[in-house]
Amino acid sequence: MNLGADLSPLSADLRPASRQGLSVVVPVFNEAGGLARLHERISTVARRLKAERGLVCEVVYVDDGSRDDTLKIAGQLPAADLDIQIVSLSRNFGKEAALIAGLDHARLGAVMFMDGDGQHSPDLIDTLVHHWIDGGYDVVYTAKAHRKHESALRRFAVRSFYSLINWGARQKIPEDAGDFRLLSPRAAAALRQLPERNRFFKGLASWIGFRQMRVDYEPEPRAHGNTTFSLGGLIGLSIEGLTSFSVAPLRLASWLGLMFALVALLYGVWILWETWIYGRSVPGYPSIMVGLMVVGGIQLMIIGIVGEYIGKILSEIKARPIYFIAEHSVRTSADHSKTAPDSRPDAKPDSTRSAAE
Ligand code: UDP
Ligand code: MG
Repeated sequence: MNLGADLSPLSADLRPASRQGLSVVVPVFNEAGGLARLHERISTVARRLKAERGLVCEVVYVDDGSRDDTLKIAGQLPAADLDIQIVSLSRNFGKEAALIAGLDHARLGAVMFMDGDGQHSPDLIDTLVHHWIDGGYDVVYTAKAHRKHESALRRFAVRSFYSLINWGARQKIPEDAGDFRLLSPRAAAALRQLPERNRFFKGLASWIGFRQMRVDYEPEPRAHGNTTFSLGGLIGLSIEGLTSFSVAPLRLASWLGLMFALVALLYGVWILWETWIYGRSVPGYPSIMVGLMVVGGIQLMIIGIVGEYIGKILSEIKARPIYFIAEHSVRTSADHSKTAPDSRPDAKPDSTRSAAE
């Protein structure tokens, strides 16, 4: 039985990169205000890529249960320069699920992910494509050039998060890397093969390996509206990333436990020594209380960490679909509005991929 996956040129699509095309996946959640403008910018880049490199593009808008007119506006976008797929999820499943839905429906070889709020500039698409086609890179990811505008506390939190997640990891997740990235056909195929339901996208895209390339960029201000990620949401995503990518918190818990056991042992020896040698038996109410509370607190924390992992196991064995598609349409520059035949050979039917939300 073969337990790995062969994605070498020998078994993969042998057409030159530019013949395999590029699917741009854009998750949109309440982005009605800026969608038309964004589509215009993507179309301009697609036209240029077609003319200069003969690279065919499509865009996949994944409507993640928007409550505004996003879906209606997406349905009216012109498909003059590139094909448009609109995948509408049955409710709001979150950005990570929307990205997976987009990846599952991308019909062309390479896949690019970008936000629908204009923060990921379409002008950078050329640079990413250049590194893929001319440089032969498989994963071209963008990373924030600097964090000058962020508070010291946030910078510290980000730094601690990455040191913890990368602690002892064989494949380090690059700091500051965003979801704006391009995957070559074989990198996209690799990502599609990962079976887990809890997905931390940045981590997985780096975990698959191949030739990776970093491109620094300055995120643009949001074109309209506000970010949908709250402090709680970011902490949630960090816990998701940590628990699905590393056992560092468990290891930390073991170390902490070991350290406390050691200190307790030494203290015990000291108490015995005091009692036997000096004949002192100390009442010691404060030290008992403090010791009790500290140890109790640490135990609760460790149980919490273990609980996070058990929760993860539970959601993996439930094996629920990650998303459900309510509507799906494809418009090509030639024809208009028909239901999509999925032309990718390994394409899976809607909502067979899964997970926990
Ligand atoms: N998004 C989504 N589902 C959600 C939340 C966000 O598809 O539940 C999309 C959103 O439309 C945008 C991208 O994910 O295209 C990034 O969201 P946002 O700008 O709110 O996050 P930030 O840029 O602040 O990280
Ligand atoms: Mg944003």
